[in-house]
Amino acid sequence: MLHICCAPCATAVLENLRNSGYDVTGYFYNPSIHPWKEFKRRLDALKEWAPSVELPVIYYEEYPLEDNIRMLLNGDNRCFSCFADRMVKTAELAFEVGIGLFTSTLSVSPYQNHELLRKAGEKASDLLDVRYLYRDFRGSYRKSIELSRVAGMYRQPYCGCVFSERDRYLKIKSPGQS
Ligand code: SF4
Repeated sequence: MLHICCAPCATAVLENLRNSGYDVTGYFYNPSIHPWKEFKRRLDALKEWAPSVELPVIYYEEYPLEDNIRMLLNGDNRCFSCFADRMVKTAELAFEVGIGLFTSTLSVSPYQNHELLRKAGEKASDLLDVRYLYRDFRGSYRKSIELSRVAGMYRQPYCGCVFSERDRYLKIKSPGQS
């Protein structure tokens, strides 16, 4: 099961996983994306692209804004809380539908802190009987830009949450950035 943060990142990661022989099912679970219009835009971009590559995707379309902001503010590092939430929910769904392995498109980004990502994935894997596949997809990052441009996909200018939108424009480093 592949946790998908957005369609552009999924392009090259899907190719990478399929080339390694994996049968991939996607899961779009990103309640941190702010504002709702941006969330919808990323969701729609994936819905438009996934059928063209015959990728089955399960979509989490709820938008629990208050709970999410609370969760991001409660932890010591909001990005770790955000990664952990996404990994736990992916592991839970994989377990529910009988998929024994999960990973995330998040690790295609050279801007994310891979140590934190890996820790979040391993922690989620410990909670349930589902293995976490850590794979450093950063080598596919350029390819993802290329593929998403060719597909005419919407490419977002910031990570997702309201804090990252501020950080992007005020040039502040997010706590989950490497
Ligand atoms: S910057 Fe990105 S990873 Fe960090 S909390 Fe915001 S959406 Fe999540």
